[in-house]
Amino acid sequence: MKLVIINISPYKDNDAILTCFNAENSYTLIARGLFSNKSKISFLNNPLTYADIDISVSKRNNYQSVKSANLIFSPMQIMNNFNDIIYVMILADVIKRCLSDEERCQIFSELLYTLSAIKNNSNKETYILSLLAKILKIAGFAISIDECCICHNKQNIVSFSLSDGGFICKNCFDKGIYTKYSKEQLIIFYNVFKNFLSAKNNFTIGDKDFFMILDVMIKFIEESFSIKIKNYQLLFK
Ligand SMILES: [Zn+2]
Repeated sequence: MKLVIINISPYKDNDAILTCFNAENSYTLIARGLFSNKSKISFLNNPLTYADIDISVSKRNNYQSVKSANLIFSPMQIMNNFNDIIYVMILADVIKRCLSDEERCQIFSELLYTLSAIKNNSNKETYILSLLAKILKIAGFAISIDECCICHNKQNIVSFSLSDGGFICKNCFDKGIYTKYSKEQLIIFYNVFKNFLSAKNNFTIGDKDFFMILDVMIKFIEESFSIKIKNYQLLFK
């Protein structure tokens, strides 16, 4: 079964408990000897590893465990680019802490697209922001991208606010609360929140806008969930 690993917890001696998921289900698997030097499945010991795992079920207590595994993608494969490693760590932390077991299944295919875009260095900025947008939607944040989220005006959009729920028009803009964005930046917000697959269509985001919007999204996630996203600050060192 092809699964993405999201969490690895030590358990008795050299064993581990893996939390994994695919588009249909979440799984809790015992990985015997994962931390042993001789382990043939030690590659599973990384969040966001994607592997084809053979599962065996204990007749005694119904526990599921890893019988064997073949690696499909490992974050270790992108170890040559520091920022890319941080992106993977940020995504792993957000997925693990902001989505429930059931909610995670809903981003399975988008996550695979994003990991592959990071690995191949092809339009990864668009994928990363679109995935974060999808995570926010699944976590229950309704974002309106067709009109001002306060007065429903469709014209003169000048800002975007995640906490208010989308675009802000000129009439509702308050410079003490909101940030004014350029037309290009507003188009990026529109595209990443529109839907994940439409963002793929050769829509590219420059470095400066990428970091600005990533920062808006991560700060909103940290505030809404009262968490600190691990390793995020490393991007600015
Ligand atoms: Zn308005």
